[in-house]
Amino acid sequence: MEFNPADNIQDLQYFGEFGGVNPSISDSSTYTFLSAKTMFDTFEGNADGCYLYSRHSSPSNLYLDKALAAMEGTEAACVAASGMGAITSTLLQLCQSGDEVVSSRTIYGGTYAFLKNFAPKLGINTVFCDFTKPEIVEKAITSKTKILYCETVSNPLLEVVDIAAMSKIAKKHNLKLVVDNTFSPLSVAPAKLGADIVIHSLTKYINGSSDTVAGVSCGSREFVNDMKNVNTGAAMLLGPTMDSLRSSSVMKNLRTLHIRIKQHSRNAQYLAEKFESIGLKTVYPGLKSHPGHDIYKRMMNPEYGFGGMLTIDVGSLEKANELMELMQQRNLGYLAVSLGFYKTLFSAPGTSTSSEIPLEEQKEMGLTDGLIRFSIGLDNDIERTFLNMKSCMEELGVLTTVSA
Ligand SMILES: *Cc1c(COP(=O)(O)O)cnc(C)c1O
Repeated sequence: MEFNPADNIQDLQYFGEFGGVNPSISDSSTYTFLSAKTMFDTFEGNADGCYLYSRHSSPSNLYLDKALAAMEGTEAACVAASGMGAITSTLLQLCQSGDEVVSSRTIYGGTYAFLKNFAPKLGINTVFCDFTKPEIVEKAITSKTKILYCETVSNPLLEVVDIAAMSKIAKKHNLKLVVDNTFSPLSVAPAKLGADIVIHSLTKYINGSSDTVAGVSCGSREFVNDMKNVNTGAAMLLGPTMDSLRSSSVMKNLRTLHIRIKQHSRNAQYLAEKFESIGLKTVYPGLKSHPGHDIYKRMMNPEYGFGGMLTIDVGSLEKANELMELMQQRNLGYLAVSLGFYKTLFSAPGTSTSSEIPLEEQKEMGLTDGLIRFSIGLDNDIERTFLNMKSCMEELGVLTTVSA
């Protein structure tokens, strides 16, 4: 049977305390016990179904944990108050002083900064390399390596990693493969391709309304129990806990994710094809010209498409800024970081979300000045959007510059 993440979410059934169609929100930080013995057992991790204290677990968070585990096809999941909360607690759970991480060099700016600037303070060092080339990744592995870390579709260059190939390397060297799947929920299920832990910034597509930050780590029951362990768990001890009110709100948005992703993908595919046809340098995994197109196609759940993220290169930062400002004036989207909103969002990654990466390294990885990253919205009439965007480009002379 085909793995269908949206069906798995749809099939869950949680009722509220009074038969409500939504589960009740747990509005408590602490929980009573009928007997002192059960409280002791809960501390020891031996009282399944009992709640202790909401930094450890809460009914609302457990519902969302289960729904996200069902989506990724993992045994369990652990939500966090932000994507970075999920990423840092996962890495610190798996690594100790002296360990090394081999990471993709094109990752979210915050993750890059954490691995490059913060983790070394704890004796955890990272080698960054090109994850589109499995042989380079394998060469970077040493006896100290514990983790391979990458994003399915990388931020902001939209490079596609062959997760199955990475999983093979990870297994051969006894490493954990950790994959940030924020750009490709439903469309790619990394755990089904051999990833050990799948992370999301729920802030983006999964919540989809740009009204919160949130995150999750999905993995084995053993890994999630370790994360939540009262004495040794990063999720418990570092305290990146999601609030119950927020988790119930994220869960309600998760239920429409499949509809939204299909529309984001359809709109992005349309615009990418149109942009490419008018001579713009366009990067989108759904284009045949994309170096990772075939790999993505092999990994994907086809009904969800190639996602909502695309980039164009308009030649210079000045042109990029002018174009983004004009498109915002014409209400074609917002000049804002982040992704997964109903409106199109655009930003110049070199000066925003990837500014943590030093300039010469940006150049080396192909992160050019004129790059604009788009998170394509849920526009009802994408043809109209395209025509309006094209007028903006014509007015600013972007098209003549790029085709010259
Ligand atoms: C936004 C983002 C993060 C960080 O998530 P927050 O919710 O902002 O903490 C991590 N990875 C990727 C790919 C992202 O886009």
